[in-house]
Amino acid sequence: MKYDIGIVGGGIAGLTSSILFAKSGYSVVLFEKSSYPKHKVCGEYVSNEVKPFLQQLGFPFEKLQLAAIQQLEVVAEKGITVSAPLDLGGFGISRYLLDYELYQLALASGVVVHTNTSVKNIIKIGNIYQIKTDHEDTETQFCISAFGKKSN
Ligand SMILES: Cc1cc2nc3c(=O)[nH]c(=O)nc-3n(C[C@H](O)[C@H](O)[C@H](O)COP(=O)(O)OP(=O)(O)OC[C@H]3O[C@@H](n4cnc5c(N)ncnc54)[C@H](O)[C@@H]3O)c2cc1C
Repeated sequence: MKYDIGIVGGGIAGLTSSILFAKSGYSVVLFEKSSYPKHKVCGEYVSNEVKPFLQQLGFPFEKLQLAAIQQLEVVAEKGITVSAPLDLGGFGISRYLLDYELYQLALASGVVVHTNTSVKNIIKIGNIYQIKTDHEDTETQFCISAFGKKSN
């Protein structure tokens, strides 16, 4: 099967770009080595700077009723506290929920998502990318490597 866009990695970068391309009319396939929802260590703070972008993707802020964060507070072992207002502010959300909701949006946008599928290699042959997993090779016209900093 041939797709316009192949995306390796379904974290924040992979999922958001998959939604953007699918909404623009491209056929998109995404490979994620784990499944959703999944836990990931995270500070769980997202700046309001990116809220309009997530809203544009259709992120369900109203359904989720996320906690607003307006202040940074650092507490020392002895209880001494230093605090400062956050200029832009943000909201609290776990990666468990953020990735899951983006995954749902990707599916609703028509992205073909292969979970529990680790990409082993990406090869360019002429103008075509071959994305290789243990199960099959998938051909795409473009390939986005969104597998994060720590992938092998
Ligand atoms: C401890 C910690 C706390 C953080 N806290 C915050 C915070 O509070 N707020 C904030 O804004 N940012 C935070 N960050 C930064 C944020 O996590 C990163 O900016 C973000 O995860 C980058 O997204 P990404 O999509 O590039 O990579 P990732 O989110 O790492 O996604 C990569 C995806 O690719 C998949 N993958 C990897 N290899 C393969 C493969 N071979 N085949 C298929 N899939 C593959 C992985 O399973 C993963 O799902 C934190 C980072 C760390 C380390």
